[in-house]
Amino acid sequence: MQEIEEMWQKVLLKMQNLVSAITFDLWISKLEPLELKNGETLILGAYSTSAKKQILKNNSKQLADCIREVFGDYVSFQILDKEEKEEYLAKNNASEKTEEEVEQIERPQFNEKYTFNNFVVGKSNQFCYAAAHAVAENPGSKFNPLFIYSGVGLGKTHLMHAIGNYLTEYNPNLKIKCVTCEQFMNEYIESLGVTEGGKDKAIFEFREKYRNVDVLMIDDIQFIANKNATKEEFFHTFNDLYQNNKQIIITSDRSPSEIDVEDRLKTRFSCGLIQDMQIPDFETRMAILKKKAQLEKFYLDDDVLNFIAEKPFTNIREMEGMLSKVFFFATLMGKKSASMEDAREAFKEDMFEKQERITPENIIKKVCEYFGITENEITGKKKNKEIVEPRMIAIYLIDDVLDIPLVSIGKIFGGRDHTTIMHSRDKIGDQIKKDNKLSAIVNDLKTKIKG
Ligand code: ADP
Ligand code: MG
Repeated sequence: MQEIEEMWQKVLLKMQNLVSAITFDLWISKLEPLELKNGETLILGAYSTSAKKQILKNNSKQLADCIREVFGDYVSFQILDKEEKEEYLAKNNASEKTEEEVEQIERPQFNEKYTFNNFVVGKSNQFCYAAAHAVAENPGSKFNPLFIYSGVGLGKTHLMHAIGNYLTEYNPNLKIKCVTCEQFMNEYIESLGVTEGGKDKAIFEFREKYRNVDVLMIDDIQFIANKNATKEEFFHTFNDLYQNNKQIIITSDRSPSEIDVEDRLKTRFSCGLIQDMQIPDFETRMAILKKKAQLEKFYLDDDVLNFIAEKPFTNIREMEGMLSKVFFFATLMGKKSASMEDAREAFKEDMFEKQERITPENIIKKVCEYFGITENEITGKKKNKEIVEPRMIAIYLIDDVLDIPLVSIGKIFGGRDHTTIMHSRDKIGDQIKKDNKLSAIVNDLKTKIKG
Protein backbone atom coordinates (compact mmCIF):
# COMPACT_ATOMS: atom_id res chain seq x y z
CA MET A 1 0.00 0.00 0.00
CA GLN A 2 2.90 2.27 0.89
CA GLU A 3 4.17 1.75 -2.62
CA ILE A 4 0.83 2.58 -4.24
CA GLU A 5 0.64 5.72 -2.14
CA GLU A 6 4.08 6.78 -3.35
CA MET A 7 3.22 6.09 -6.97
CA TRP A 8 -0.02 7.96 -6.57
CA GLN A 9 1.93 11.00 -5.37
CA LYS A 10 3.81 10.87 -8.67
CA VAL A 11 0.53 10.79 -10.58
CA LEU A 12 -0.57 13.83 -8.60
CA LEU A 13 2.61 15.70 -9.49
CA LYS A 14 1.96 15.08 -13.15
CA MET A 15 -1.68 16.04 -12.93
CA GLN A 16 -0.74 19.24 -11.16
CA ASN A 17 1.06 20.31 -14.30
CA LEU A 18 -1.85 19.47 -16.55
CA VAL A 19 -4.94 20.90 -14.88
CA SER A 20 -5.82 24.26 -13.39
CA ALA A 21 -4.97 24.89 -9.75
CA ILE A 22 -8.64 24.95 -8.85
CA THR A 23 -9.46 21.65 -10.54
CA PHE A 24 -6.44 20.13 -8.89
CA ASP A 25 -7.39 21.39 -5.46
CA LEU A 26 -11.06 20.70 -5.59
CA TRP A 27 -11.12 17.36 -7.29
CA ILE A 28 -7.88 15.63 -8.19
CA SER A 29 -5.91 16.12 -4.99
CA LYS A 30 -8.82 14.74 -2.98
CA LEU A 31 -8.81 11.38 -4.72
CA GLU A 32 -7.61 8.54 -2.57
CA PRO A 33 -5.85 5.47 -3.99
CA LEU A 34 -7.48 2.39 -2.48
CA GLU A 35 -6.01 -0.58 -4.25
CA LEU A 36 -4.30 -1.74 -7.41
CA LYS A 37 -6.77 -4.47 -8.22
CA ASN A 38 -5.26 -7.52 -9.94
CA GLY A 39 -2.34 -5.31 -10.83
CA GLU A 40 -4.37 -3.69 -13.59
CA THR A 41 -7.04 -1.39 -12.20
CA LEU A 42 -6.26 1.40 -9.83
CA ILE A 43 -9.26 1.87 -7.57
CA LEU A 44 -9.67 5.47 -6.47
CA GLY A 45 -12.04 6.87 -3.89
CA ALA A 46 -13.71 10.26 -4.48
CA TYR A 47 -15.38 12.19 -1.70
CA SER A 48 -18.73 12.57 -3.40
CA THR A 49 -20.75 11.61 -6.42
CA SER A 50 -20.26 15.02 -7.94
CA ALA A 51 -16.49 14.82 -7.48
CA LYS A 52 -16.53 11.53 -9.34
CA LYS A 53 -18.69 12.94 -12.11
CA GLN A 54 -16.58 16.07 -12.49
CA ILE A 55 -13.37 14.12 -12.85
CA LEU A 56 -14.81 11.58 -15.25
CA LYS A 57 -16.33 14.32 -17.34
CA ASN A 58 -13.39 16.69 -17.50
CA ASN A 59 -10.16 14.97 -16.63
CA SER A 60 -10.48 11.28 -17.32
CA LYS A 61 -8.13 11.24 -20.28
CA GLN A 62 -5.40 13.17 -18.46
CA LEU A 63 -5.80 10.97 -15.44
CA ALA A 64 -5.67 7.80 -17.52
CA ASP A 65 -2.49 9.02 -19.22
CA CYS A 66 -0.76 9.96 -16.00
CA ILE A 67 -1.71 6.69 -14.34
CA ARG A 68 -0.38 4.76 -17.30
CA GLU A 69 2.86 6.73 -17.20
CA VAL A 70 3.43 5.94 -13.55
CA PHE A 71 1.82 2.52 -13.06
CA GLY A 72 2.50 1.05 -16.47
CA ASP A 73 0.88 0.85 -19.85
CA TYR A 74 -1.85 -1.59 -19.00
CA VAL A 75 -3.14 -0.03 -15.85
CA SER A 76 -6.53 1.66 -16.00
CA PHE A 77 -8.54 3.21 -13.22
CA GLN A 78 -11.94 3.20 -11.63
CA ILE A 79 -13.40 5.90 -9.41
CA LEU A 80 -15.77 5.10 -6.57
CA ASP A 81 -17.92 7.75 -4.99
CA LYS A 82 -18.30 7.95 -1.24
CA GLU A 83 -21.00 5.33 -0.95
CA GLU A 84 -19.40 2.94 -3.39
CA LYS A 85 -16.14 3.39 -1.57
CA GLU A 86 -17.68 2.51 1.76
CA GLU A 87 -19.29 -0.56 0.28
CA TYR A 88 -16.04 -1.53 -1.34
CA LEU A 89 -14.04 -1.11 1.83
CA ALA A 90 -16.60 -2.97 3.89
CA LYS A 91 -16.52 -5.88 1.47
CA ASN A 92 -12.77 -5.99 1.13
CA ASN A 93 -11.51 -5.79 4.64
CA ALA A 94 -14.46 -6.20 6.93
CA SER A 95 -12.71 -8.95 8.81
CA GLU A 96 -9.30 -7.34 8.98
CA LYS A 97 -10.26 -3.95 10.25
CA THR A 98 -9.51 -3.11 13.83
CA GLU A 99 -11.59 -0.56 15.71
CA GLU A 100 -8.82 1.94 15.43
CA GLU A 101 -8.84 1.73 11.66
CA VAL A 102 -12.58 2.25 11.50
CA GLU A 103 -12.07 5.41 13.50
CA GLN A 104 -9.34 6.58 11.17
CA ILE A 105 -11.42 6.26 8.05
CA GLU A 106 -13.95 8.62 9.50
CA ARG A 107 -11.38 11.25 10.32
CA PRO A 108 -10.65 13.85 7.71
CA GLN A 109 -7.68 12.97 5.58
CA PHE A 110 -5.28 15.82 5.93
CA ASN A 111 -2.46 16.07 3.46
CA GLU A 112 0.44 14.77 5.49
CA LYS A 113 2.91 17.04 3.77
CA TYR A 114 0.96 20.11 4.83
CA THR A 115 2.38 20.48 8.32
CA PHE A 116 3.59 23.47 10.30
CA ASN A 117 7.10 22.08 10.03
CA ASN A 118 6.93 22.11 6.27
CA PHE A 119 5.58 25.63 6.12
CA VAL A 120 8.25 28.25 5.55
CA VAL A 121 7.65 31.38 7.57
CA GLY A 122 8.57 34.77 6.17
CA LYS A 123 7.37 38.36 6.31
CA SER A 124 4.49 37.62 3.97
CA ASN A 125 2.86 34.99 6.15
CA GLN A 126 4.30 35.18 9.68
CA PHE A 127 1.16 36.49 11.37
CA CYS A 128 -1.05 34.00 9.64
CA TYR A 129 1.27 31.21 10.65
CA ALA A 130 1.30 32.39 14.27
CA ALA A 131 -2.49 32.64 14.35
CA ALA A 132 -2.93 29.19 12.83
CA HIS A 133 -0.48 27.74 15.32
CA ALA A 134 -2.26 29.39 18.23
CA VAL A 135 -5.58 27.97 17.04
CA ALA A 136 -4.04 24.51 16.72
CA GLU A 137 -2.79 24.75 20.30
CA ASN A 138 -6.02 26.10 21.76
CA PRO A 139 -8.94 25.46 19.47
CA GLY A 140 -12.16 27.24 20.27
CA SER A 141 -10.68 29.76 22.64
CA LYS A 142 -8.62 32.55 21.18
CA PHE A 143 -9.24 33.33 17.56
CA ASN A 144 -12.69 32.24 16.59
CA PRO A 145 -13.39 32.16 13.76
CA LEU A 146 -9.97 32.22 12.18
CA PHE A 147 -10.37 33.69 8.73
CA ILE A 148 -7.37 33.29 6.42
CA TYR A 149 -7.26 34.95 3.06
CA SER A 150 -4.71 35.33 0.26
CA GLY A 151 -4.29 35.01 -3.47
CA VAL A 152 -4.42 31.57 -5.02
CA GLY A 153 -1.57 29.17 -4.25
CA LEU A 154 -0.12 31.05 -1.29
CA GLY A 155 -0.58 28.44 1.41
CA LYS A 156 -4.11 28.73 2.82
CA THR A 157 -4.98 25.07 2.40
CA HIS A 158 -1.51 24.15 3.62
CA LEU A 159 -2.04 26.06 6.88
CA MET A 160 -5.54 24.71 7.35
CA HIS A 161 -4.32 21.15 6.97
CA ALA A 162 -1.38 21.96 9.26
CA ILE A 163 -3.91 22.78 11.98
CA GLY A 164 -5.69 19.53 11.16
CA ASN A 165 -2.51 17.47 11.30
CA TYR A 166 -1.50 19.10 14.55
CA LEU A 167 -4.88 18.44 16.17
CA THR A 168 -4.89 14.87 14.94
CA GLU A 169 -1.57 14.35 16.65
CA TYR A 170 -2.01 16.27 19.90
CA ASN A 171 -5.76 16.28 20.36
CA PRO A 172 -6.95 13.05 18.77
CA ASN A 173 -10.31 13.03 20.49
CA LEU A 174 -11.56 16.18 18.88
CA LYS A 175 -14.15 15.77 16.18
CA ILE A 176 -12.97 17.61 13.12
CA LYS A 177 -14.74 18.27 9.89
CA CYS A 178 -12.73 19.71 7.02
CA VAL A 179 -14.42 20.40 3.71
CA THR A 180 -14.23 22.73 0.77
CA CYS A 181 -17.07 25.16 0.42
CA GLU A 182 -18.07 23.21 -2.69
CA GLN A 183 -18.33 20.01 -0.70
CA PHE A 184 -20.44 21.66 1.97
CA MET A 185 -22.73 22.98 -0.73
CA ASN A 186 -22.96 19.68 -2.61
CA GLU A 187 -23.77 17.74 0.52
CA TYR A 188 -26.39 20.24 1.48
CA ILE A 189 -27.96 20.20 -1.97
CA GLU A 190 -27.87 16.42 -2.00
CA SER A 191 -29.73 16.33 1.30
CA LEU A 192 -32.34 18.72 -0.10
CA GLY A 193 -32.86 16.44 -3.06
CA VAL A 194 -33.38 13.27 -1.06
CA THR A 195 -36.86 11.86 -1.37
CA GLU A 196 -36.35 8.30 -0.35
CA GLY A 197 -36.37 7.94 3.42
CA GLY A 198 -37.52 11.51 3.88
CA LYS A 199 -36.03 14.89 3.11
CA ASP A 200 -36.34 16.04 6.70
CA LYS A 201 -34.30 13.12 7.85
CA ALA A 202 -31.59 13.87 5.28
CA ILE A 203 -31.38 17.51 6.31
CA PHE A 204 -31.39 16.52 9.94
CA GLU A 205 -28.47 14.20 9.27
CA PHE A 206 -26.63 16.89 7.37
CA ARG A 207 -27.03 19.27 10.32
CA GLU A 208 -26.00 16.62 12.82
CA LYS A 209 -22.86 16.04 10.85
CA TYR A 210 -21.86 19.67 10.66
CA ARG A 211 -23.02 20.92 14.03
CA ASN A 212 -21.80 18.03 16.03
CA VAL A 213 -18.10 18.78 15.67
CA ASP A 214 -15.42 20.52 17.71
CA VAL A 215 -13.63 22.03 14.76
CA LEU A 216 -15.12 22.96 11.41
CA MET A 217 -12.82 23.90 8.54
CA ILE A 218 -14.22 25.36 5.36
CA ASP A 219 -11.78 25.86 2.52
CA ASP A 220 -12.37 28.49 -0.18
CA ILE A 221 -15.50 30.04 1.26
CA GLN A 222 -15.64 32.58 -1.59
CA PHE A 223 -17.52 30.00 -3.65
CA ILE A 224 -20.50 30.51 -1.39
CA ALA A 225 -21.34 33.80 -3.13
CA ASN A 226 -24.67 33.63 -5.00
CA LYS A 227 -25.65 30.35 -3.38
CA ASN A 228 -28.46 31.64 -1.26
CA ALA A 229 -29.79 28.48 0.32
CA THR A 230 -26.27 27.31 1.17
CA LYS A 231 -25.45 30.71 2.65
CA GLU A 232 -28.47 30.51 4.88
CA GLU A 233 -27.57 27.01 6.04
CA PHE A 234 -23.98 27.99 6.61
CA PHE A 235 -25.05 31.01 8.64
CA HIS A 236 -26.97 28.77 11.03
CA THR A 237 -24.21 26.18 11.18
CA PHE A 238 -21.79 28.96 11.99
CA ASN A 239 -23.95 30.39 14.78
CA ASP A 240 -24.56 27.05 16.31
CA LEU A 241 -20.89 26.17 16.48
CA TYR A 242 -19.81 29.63 17.51
CA GLN A 243 -22.23 29.78 20.40
CA ASN A 244 -20.89 26.48 21.65
CA ASN A 245 -17.30 27.71 21.47
CA LYS A 246 -16.43 25.33 18.70
CA GLN A 247 -13.54 26.38 16.51
CA ILE A 248 -14.30 27.55 13.00
CA ILE A 249 -11.55 28.02 10.43
CA ILE A 250 -12.27 29.57 7.09
CA THR A 251 -10.09 30.28 4.09
CA SER A 252 -10.90 32.52 1.19
CA ASP A 253 -9.17 34.07 -1.79
CA ARG A 254 -10.51 37.46 -0.79
CA SER A 255 -11.24 39.40 2.37
CA PRO A 256 -14.65 39.14 4.08
CA SER A 257 -15.59 42.59 2.82
CA GLU A 258 -14.95 41.51 -0.78
CA ILE A 259 -16.99 38.30 -0.69
CA ASP A 260 -20.46 38.59 -2.03
CA VAL A 261 -22.40 37.65 1.11
CA GLU A 262 -24.84 39.51 3.33
CA ASP A 263 -23.53 41.81 6.00
CA ARG A 264 -24.69 39.52 8.76
CA LEU A 265 -22.31 36.83 7.51
CA LYS A 266 -19.50 39.35 7.02
CA THR A 267 -20.01 40.43 10.60
CA ARG A 268 -19.73 36.82 11.74
CA PHE A 269 -16.51 36.33 9.80
CA SER A 270 -15.08 39.42 11.41
CA CYS A 271 -15.74 38.56 15.03
CA GLY A 272 -12.58 36.47 15.35
CA LEU A 273 -9.30 37.05 13.62
CA ILE A 274 -8.90 37.93 9.98
CA GLN A 275 -5.43 37.37 8.68
CA ASP A 276 -4.05 37.69 5.18
CA MET A 277 -0.97 36.36 3.43
CA GLN A 278 0.99 38.11 0.72
CA ILE A 279 3.23 36.88 -2.05
CA PRO A 280 6.47 35.67 -0.43
CA ASP A 281 9.61 37.66 -1.11
CA PHE A 282 12.64 36.25 -2.89
CA GLU A 283 14.32 34.87 0.26
CA THR A 284 11.15 33.11 1.36
CA ARG A 285 10.66 31.69 -2.12
CA MET A 286 14.22 30.33 -1.98
CA ALA A 287 13.54 28.79 1.42
CA ILE A 288 10.31 27.21 0.18
CA LEU A 289 12.12 25.68 -2.79
CA LYS A 290 14.84 24.33 -0.50
CA LYS A 291 12.23 22.85 1.81
CA LYS A 292 10.40 21.16 -1.05
CA ALA A 293 13.63 19.74 -2.45
CA GLN A 294 14.60 18.49 0.99
CA LEU A 295 11.21 16.79 1.36
CA GLU A 296 11.79 14.99 -1.91
CA LYS A 297 15.34 14.15 -0.79
CA PHE A 298 16.60 16.03 -3.75
CA TYR A 299 19.64 18.22 -4.07
CA LEU A 300 19.57 21.32 -6.24
CA ASP A 301 22.45 23.67 -6.93
CA ASP A 302 21.92 27.16 -5.61
CA ASP A 303 21.88 28.69 -9.06
CA VAL A 304 18.93 26.45 -9.98
CA LEU A 305 17.06 27.58 -6.88
CA ASN A 306 17.97 31.16 -7.69
CA PHE A 307 16.82 30.81 -11.24
CA ILE A 308 13.39 29.60 -10.17
CA ALA A 309 12.95 31.87 -7.16
CA GLU A 310 13.81 34.92 -9.25
CA LYS A 311 10.77 34.50 -11.45
CA PRO A 312 8.01 36.82 -10.35
CA PHE A 313 5.65 34.07 -9.24
CA THR A 314 2.40 35.13 -7.67
CA ASN A 315 1.47 31.55 -6.91
CA ILE A 316 3.65 29.07 -5.04
CA ARG A 317 1.97 26.12 -6.68
CA GLU A 318 3.15 27.38 -10.05
CA MET A 319 6.64 27.77 -8.67
CA GLU A 320 6.48 24.19 -7.43
CA GLY A 321 5.38 23.13 -10.90
CA MET A 322 8.66 24.42 -12.24
CA LEU A 323 10.56 22.60 -9.53
CA SER A 324 8.73 19.34 -10.32
CA LYS A 325 9.91 19.63 -13.90
CA VAL A 326 13.50 19.64 -12.74
CA PHE A 327 12.82 16.70 -10.40
CA PHE A 328 11.12 14.83 -13.15
CA PHE A 329 13.85 15.43 -15.66
CA ALA A 330 16.61 14.49 -13.23
CA THR A 331 14.72 11.36 -12.18
CA LEU A 332 14.53 10.31 -15.79
CA MET A 333 18.29 10.63 -15.89
CA GLY A 334 18.49 8.51 -12.76
CA LYS A 335 19.75 11.37 -10.59
CA LYS A 336 18.79 12.74 -7.23
CA SER A 337 20.36 16.13 -7.83
CA ALA A 338 20.29 18.75 -10.54
CA SER A 339 22.70 21.38 -11.78
CA MET A 340 21.81 24.47 -13.78
CA GLU A 341 22.64 22.54 -16.91
CA ASP A 342 20.08 19.86 -16.07
CA ALA A 343 17.53 22.53 -15.25
CA ARG A 344 18.08 24.21 -18.58
CA GLU A 345 17.47 20.92 -20.33
CA ALA A 346 14.35 20.39 -18.25
CA PHE A 347 12.93 23.77 -19.21
CA LYS A 348 14.11 23.76 -22.79
CA GLU A 349 11.19 22.05 -24.39
CA ASP A 350 8.90 24.03 -22.21
CA MET A 351 10.24 27.40 -23.21
CA PHE A 352 10.24 26.39 -26.81
CA GLU A 353 6.62 25.31 -26.68
CA LYS A 354 5.56 28.41 -24.82
CA GLN A 355 7.43 30.69 -27.19
CA GLU A 356 5.47 29.33 -30.09
CA ARG A 357 2.17 29.88 -28.41
CA ILE A 358 2.69 33.56 -27.59
CA THR A 359 0.94 35.73 -30.13
CA PRO A 360 -0.42 39.29 -30.00
CA GLU A 361 -3.91 37.77 -29.89
CA ASN A 362 -3.31 35.73 -26.81
CA ILE A 363 -1.52 38.58 -25.06
CA ILE A 364 -4.61 40.70 -25.71
CA LYS A 365 -6.81 37.87 -24.48
CA LYS A 366 -4.86 37.54 -21.24
CA VAL A 367 -4.89 41.28 -20.59
CA CYS A 368 -8.65 41.39 -21.22
CA GLU A 369 -9.26 38.47 -18.86
CA TYR A 370 -7.13 40.14 -16.24
CA PHE A 371 -9.03 43.40 -16.34
CA GLY A 372 -12.43 41.93 -17.10
CA ILE A 373 -12.94 43.82 -20.36
CA THR A 374 -13.71 42.57 -23.87
CA GLU A 375 -11.39 42.27 -26.85
CA ASN A 376 -13.57 44.69 -28.82
CA GLU A 377 -13.19 47.24 -26.09
CA ILE A 378 -9.44 46.93 -25.84
CA THR A 379 -8.86 47.31 -29.58
CA GLY A 380 -11.68 49.83 -29.98
CA LYS A 381 -11.95 53.56 -29.53
CA LYS A 382 -13.29 54.01 -26.00
CA LYS A 383 -11.36 56.56 -23.99
CA ASN A 384 -12.38 55.83 -20.42
CA LYS A 385 -9.60 54.96 -17.99
CA GLU A 386 -10.82 51.39 -17.38
CA ILE A 387 -10.16 50.62 -21.03
CA VAL A 388 -7.29 52.95 -21.88
CA GLU A 389 -4.93 51.65 -19.23
CA PRO A 390 -5.35 47.96 -20.14
CA ARG A 391 -4.97 48.95 -23.79
CA MET A 392 -1.65 50.67 -23.14
CA ILE A 393 -0.48 47.75 -21.01
CA ALA A 394 -1.35 45.29 -23.78
CA ILE A 395 0.59 47.41 -26.28
CA TYR A 396 3.55 47.60 -23.93
CA LEU A 397 3.52 43.84 -23.39
CA ILE A 398 3.22 42.94 -27.06
CA ASP A 399 6.16 45.17 -27.81
CA ASP A 400 8.16 43.89 -24.86
CA VAL A 401 7.50 40.18 -25.26
CA LEU A 402 7.26 39.83 -29.03
CA ASP A 403 9.20 42.72 -30.43
CA ILE A 404 7.12 43.09 -33.59
CA PRO A 405 6.94 46.32 -35.62
CA LEU A 406 4.91 49.14 -34.08
CA VAL A 407 3.01 49.51 -37.33
CA SER A 408 1.77 45.92 -37.02
CA ILE A 409 0.73 46.52 -33.42
CA GLY A 410 -1.15 49.60 -34.63
CA LYS A 411 -3.06 47.46 -37.10
CA ILE A 412 -4.09 45.01 -34.41
CA PHE A 413 -5.39 47.92 -32.36
CA GLY A 414 -7.92 49.09 -34.90
CA GLY A 415 -5.48 50.78 -37.31
CA ARG A 416 -3.85 53.15 -34.84
CA ASP A 417 -0.87 55.14 -35.99
CA HIS A 418 2.55 53.82 -34.97
CA THR A 419 3.32 57.01 -33.05
CA THR A 420 0.23 56.42 -30.90
CA ILE A 421 1.50 52.92 -30.22
CA MET A 422 4.94 54.23 -29.35
CA HIS A 423 3.41 56.79 -27.01
CA SER A 424 1.41 54.10 -25.17
CA ARG A 425 4.42 51.84 -24.89
CA ASP A 426 6.67 54.58 -23.53
CA LYS A 427 4.08 55.82 -21.10
CA ILE A 428 3.72 52.41 -19.44
CA GLY A 429 7.48 51.93 -19.62
CA ASP A 430 7.95 55.18 -17.65
CA GLN A 431 5.16 54.58 -15.21
CA ILE A 432 6.27 51.15 -14.11
CA LYS A 433 9.53 52.68 -12.92
CA LYS A 434 7.63 54.87 -10.48
CA ASP A 435 4.45 53.00 -9.72
CA ASN A 436 4.97 49.75 -7.79
CA LYS A 437 1.43 48.61 -8.17
CA LEU A 438 1.46 48.99 -11.91
CA SER A 439 4.81 47.31 -12.12
CA ALA A 440 3.44 44.33 -10.15
CA ILE A 441 0.47 44.10 -12.51
CA VAL A 442 2.68 44.16 -15.58
CA ASN A 443 4.99 41.52 -14.09
CA ASP A 444 2.06 39.38 -13.14
CA LEU A 445 0.73 39.56 -16.66
CA LYS A 446 4.13 38.78 -18.09
CA THR A 447 4.29 35.58 -16.03
CA LYS A 448 0.84 34.65 -17.19
CA ILE A 449 1.79 35.24 -20.81
CA LYS A 450 5.09 33.41 -20.63
CA GLY A 451 3.48 30.62 -18.61
P1 ADP B 1 -3.93 28.05 -1.48
O1 ADP B 1 -4.81 27.17 -0.65
O2 ADP B 1 -3.68 29.38 -0.85
O3 ADP B 1 -4.37 28.18 -2.90
P2 ADP B 1 -1.98 25.97 -1.02
O4 ADP B 1 -2.08 25.89 0.46
O5 ADP B 1 -2.65 24.90 -1.77
O6 ADP B 1 -2.50 27.39 -1.53
O7 ADP B 1 -0.45 26.08 -1.41
C1 ADP B 1 0.02 25.81 -2.72
C2 ADP B 1 1.34 25.10 -2.64
O8 ADP B 1 2.33 25.98 -2.15
C3 ADP B 1 1.32 23.93 -1.68
O9 ADP B 1 2.06 22.88 -2.22
C4 ADP B 1 1.99 24.47 -0.43
O10 ADP B 1 2.65 23.46 0.28
C5 ADP B 1 2.95 25.46 -1.00
N1 ADP B 1 3.23 26.59 -0.09
C6 ADP B 1 2.62 27.79 -0.05
N2 ADP B 1 3.16 28.58 0.91
C7 ADP B 1 4.13 27.85 1.48
C8 ADP B 1 5.07 28.11 2.53
N3 ADP B 1 5.10 29.27 3.17
N4 ADP B 1 5.94 27.13 2.84
C9 ADP B 1 5.93 25.95 2.18
N5 ADP B 1 5.08 25.65 1.19
C10 ADP B 1 4.19 26.59 0.83
MG1 MG C 1 -6.50 26.17 -1.27
